[in-house]
Amino acid sequence: MRVAYHKDYFVALPPTHPFPMAKYPLLYERLRREGLVRDGSLIEPAEADLEDLRLVHTDDYLGRLAGGSLDAAAVRKLGVPWSTALWRRSRLAASGTIEAARAALEDGLAGNLAGGTHHAFPGHGEGFCLLNDVAVAIRVLQRDGRIRRALVVDLDVHQGNGTAAIFEGDTDVFTFSMHGERNYPTRKMRSTLDVGLADGVGDDEYLELLERNLAGILANFPADLVFYLAGVDVVQGDRYGRLAITDMGLRRRERHVLETCRRAGVPVAITIAGGYAATPERTAELHAIVFEEARAQFG
Ligand SMILES: [Zn+2]
Repeated sequence: MRVAYHKDYFVALPPTHPFPMAKYPLLYERLRREGLVRDGSLIEPAEADLEDLRLVHTDDYLGRLAGGSLDAAAVRKLGVPWSTALWRRSRLAASGTIEAARAALEDGLAGNLAGGTHHAFPGHGEGFCLLNDVAVAIRVLQRDGRIRRALVVDLDVHQGNGTAAIFEGDTDVFTFSMHGERNYPTRKMRSTLDVGLADGVGDDEYLELLERNLAGILANFPADLVFYLAGVDVVQGDRYGRLAITDMGLRRRERHVLETCRRAGVPVAITIAGGYAATPERTAELHAIVFEEARAQFG
């Protein structure tokens, strides 16, 4: 299985910053140790072209990101301090998702060890997300004639508000978001299908809802490619999560999504999205599960 990774996915943040940047190299090293990432199957992305980013984002916003001229309110909303390294990192990660999607179309499955930055809108970023990598990848593949219809399966615990807004009214892109109803963002956008969960939902209820909804979508929407946002902030104990999914529940979730898409004959591009466990090591351990399940099924 091909996966995209770049060492500069990691950017140093102030020591007290809540975003666990260390999870990226930790996940990479873990998958290396487990033999899930090898030299021959590693995609090293280059920074995404501005021309590609313009398919989703406004010139004004991209200009501010490139020039470091976001105002104080915009930086506050973003939740991470701007730097040239952060701007470069975001373009590398967006490119990683584009490359993973291309690889998925050839191989049936591929992943990016970053991405899933679903809170980014065309003209602003929020919730640690600068660029909407999945939306950019969809528009690039459509422009290149590689796909017509895409399905976004967003199981991060937070609603994919940026993605929902970008594709609202677009019948070629189905956005499915299953998230904590009372969690961030307070103002939800409208996905094609939103499933809002109460605080404290556990494995059985979660998996039953997922199975029922995903089966219904795949039966009715002929997707050329699935983008899976495999956020692990649904797991109990997550700092921002509010749900009560166990490690085994998460493993069952990953297995179910991958297996269902494989049976439906739809390729899958995996992005890791959010995860805020007690330590970055633990977060990386949880993010590794989707790749372990991918190997179990696809070899
Ligand atoms: Zn999240």
